[in-house]
Amino acid sequence: MLIDYHVHTKLCKHAVGEPEEYIEKAIEKGFAEIGFSDHCPMPGDYDPESRMTEPEFPEYLNMIGKLQKKYPEIVIKLGIEVDYFPKYVDYVRKFVGENRFDYVIGAVHFLDSWGIDNEKFVGEYKHRDINEAYNLYFKTVTDAIETKLFDVVAHLDIIKKFGYKPENGYLEIATETLKAIKKNDLCLEVNTSGLRKIAKEVYPNDEILQKVCEMEIPIILGSDSHAPSEMGWYFDETVENLKRIGFKNICSFSGRKRTFVSL
Ligand SMILES: [Zn+2]
Ligand SMILES: [Zn+2]
Repeated sequence: MLIDYHVHTKLCKHAVGEPEEYIEKAIEKGFAEIGFSDHCPMPGDYDPESRMTEPEFPEYLNMIGKLQKKYPEIVIKLGIEVDYFPKYVDYVRKFVGENRFDYVIGAVHFLDSWGIDNEKFVGEYKHRDINEAYNLYFKTVTDAIETKLFDVVAHLDIIKKFGYKPENGYLEIATETLKAIKKNDLCLEVNTSGLRKIAKEVYPNDEILQKVCEMEIPIILGSDSHAPSEMGWYFDETVENLKRIGFKNICSFSGRKRTFVSL
């Protein structure tokens, strides 16, 4: 059974297409569920061009509610992609606490003022010690996990998006973060959008996924689609690979409680 839990909407200002088109694509592909997880509102100065505003948030809720009624043939979930940014943890805590999501995906997109997955800031990789940047990034993801605000950790090694990787790999650095995921009983997203980027790999890579499987960390699948054509991006191939690694299940979420469905 296939489920795509990482789907954006036009409200984030950098996705295209109507939500109906994403849903119809999911139905066409025979998916059991689709979950929208658009970027949450954040206080004024935090990346305003990539997210809905606070006054737009009720629109998001209404939209998903209407779609759930319109498409009884597929399960549609209400998710959200929430940013971890130390200065705004209290804002996010309040926002997540006030709303009833099916699941909350936590993501690190900024290290201070550096938007690590934003093309606008790609030049920064040339000025950084890549090993240090990876250390800082994974340490920040671990801090995000320790806030206990999220159900799922997004695109774990997205810092590889533009192809910059430490010479000796980063399994050891990532493993520390996996331990925090395990300790806090969170779920990890297997995000196929990396296959559309310079990285040309799923987030996270197979070496890390092997470790995730050994540690029995639960997973969800996400395409991070910003266009209807990206819905369920390379899921068949990814599921085959996950089975080869040893995964048997993915998670489904309702009201922030997870259950397992077999792959
Ligand atoms: Zn993201
Ligand atoms: Zn996303």
